[in-house]
Amino acid sequence: MRIDVLTLFPEMFESVFQASILGKAREKELVRLQAVNFRDYAENKHNTVDDYPYGGGGGMVLKPDPIFRAVEALEPPEDGARPRVLLLCPQGRRYDQRFAEELSGEKHLVLICGHYEGYDERIREHLVTDEVSIGDYVLTGGEIPAMAIIDSVVRLLPGVLGNEQSAVTDSFSTGLLEYPQYTRPAEFRGWAVPDVLISGHHANIEKWRRQQSLERTWKRRPDLLEGQELSKQDRELLDRLERERQASQQQQ
Ligand code: SAM
Repeated sequence: MRIDVLTLFPEMFESVFQASILGKAREKELVRLQAVNFRDYAENKHNTVDDYPYGGGGGMVLKPDPIFRAVEALEPPEDGARPRVLLLCPQGRRYDQRFAEELSGEKHLVLICGHYEGYDERIREHLVTDEVSIGDYVLTGGEIPAMAIIDSVVRLLPGVLGNEQSAVTDSFSTGLLEYPQYTRPAEFRGWAVPDVLISGHHANIEKWRRQQSLERTWKRRPDLLEGQELSKQDRELLDRLERERQASQQQQ
């Protein structure tokens, strides 16, 4: 996979691209990561990338020409495939694990990081394939959202994570939140690890984990349970949890 980030602050990506999983993925040549300063594509005396909004109002707007030129100057892929061009903005499609999985199947991603008040609308209309938001809050620039997206996509690429299983059981990958995890010591300050996890009984461990995942999702993110494929045992567990909740509400 190849990922190009268009930004006014390429230095912000230096350590992120070198450290941890992203650094290893680059070393193994599983991904090519590049941060491009689109100011280099401003064809004016002061390399200006922003200007006042037509119609007045506060804030500066990113001009279309440097961003169009920077995208068009990217080296074309060998197979001539068109990249997926993502515009980071709080107004876009909300980013989630499904979106990460979708993007991990692409060969080439281009991420455009905004700054200031916003973008000239023609960038949205005629250059990008997707507008992406990482949540309902406003950041100063698109760099941190771009890092979150790159990290979550690259860790899904085959061969990137040492233990492939760890991405499969992650929260959201299964559609549910992940079950609780424990490591040694078996007892810490009087708090013991659940017996089942040290029983060595794999079928019981799997069953316990599934129940814990379901219960945690039911308590914290019931919205995730909608549309889930649930077995008879899953439904029985959720029905029992619901009955227990109603009973405790009646007691109060
Ligand atoms: N005025 C814009 C609006 O109301 O939509 C917000 C501009 S924000 C200060 C500057 C840039 O930060 C945006 O263009 C975008 O690239 C990035 N940004 C801010 N919040 C974001 C979010 N939740 N998701 C993705 N990008 C975001």
